[in-house]
Amino acid sequence: MTESKPLTQLSIVVPIYNEEPIIEELHQRLTAVAQSITPNYEIIFINDGSKDNSLLSIHRLSEVDEHFFYINFSRNFGHQLAVTAGLDVARGEAVVIIDGDLQDPPELIPEMYQKYKEGYDVVYAKRKQRKGESMFKKVTAKMFYRILQKITNINIPLDVGDFRLIDKKVVEALKLMPEQNKFLRGQIAWLGFSSTHVLFDRDERKHGKTGYTFSKMMQFAMDGITSFSDKPLQFVTKLGLFISFVSFLIILYACYAHFILHETITGWTSLIISSMFIGGVQLISIGIIGAYISRINKNVQNRPLYIVEKSKLPQEYKELANT
Ligand code: UDP
Ligand code: MG
Repeated sequence: MTESKPLTQLSIVVPIYNEEPIIEELHQRLTAVAQSITPNYEIIFINDGSKDNSLLSIHRLSEVDEHFFYINFSRNFGHQLAVTAGLDVARGEAVVIIDGDLQDPPELIPEMYQKYKEGYDVVYAKRKQRKGESMFKKVTAKMFYRILQKITNINIPLDVGDFRLIDKKVVEALKLMPEQNKFLRGQIAWLGFSSTHVLFDRDERKHGKTGYTFSKMMQFAMDGITSFSDKPLQFVTKLGLFISFVSFLIILYACYAHFILHETITGWTSLIISSMFIGGVQLISIGIIGAYISRINKNVQNRPLYIVEKSKLPQEYKELANT
């Protein structure tokens, strides 16, 4: 047997998109927290194509801190893939996923680690309140998770984001899920494992603005739904049946009115309204089917999930580091 290195107890995975002003503080707070848990920890930042100088700060940190690793994407691939890349290289027995904007307080990690030590494989950080987020975001997020709960069979916990601690087993299981459109919180729920949560107040963003634009949020919501539910497809089928049935009744009535009552129903307005209605329903249905087809398409193409421009990674990931 070769001499064995101490196991990495804790990995902290942080996606970074335009977070330059707080990178120092983030690193300091994460380091303090990690050291309070174990000396065998690693911190992994994934720079997701930031447009500011985040990379420069990250690079500086990587030169002075041996516990610090990073991956620099060749462009912006999105939050979910940044986290995925981090999980791909994390070696920890326990892995924490945390946002890089300090909205998720690093100081909560010891409490999460405590629960992990008690034997839970997944420890969610559940928001008591979300400060500084727009009414629109709160309302749409709430609606989305309620709807998702209704139409999927898996139980995605409410009011939790991606801030969580997961056991190595969960990380390994996630790697077996090859889908291109990641929806990690749903995937982790789908996997099962024993889970619990700790409560926290979500802070405001310290600087800058959310990297989740409206269209990224829409895409994320669509990924969440299409990866876990066929209900939208069943719904449009039922809607189609229902509309066909109603129009059949109307045809019967029109025949009756024409041949028996000798009154022909006139009406340009009803004609236009009904054809517009049907047109709308058809377009929505095609859109829904299209969303599923696009998912299939992406998975068939089977492209790499992300492209690494450069990185500092532990020895065992040399291959990835050289890409
Ligand atoms: N993020 C990322 N890529 C993106 C958008 C965001 O890596 O394309 C990171 C961002 O730096 C942050 C985390 O993902 O660490 C959450 O993003 P954000 O704070 O913008 O989302 P919100 O908190 O508004 O949901
Ligand atoms: Mg945020």
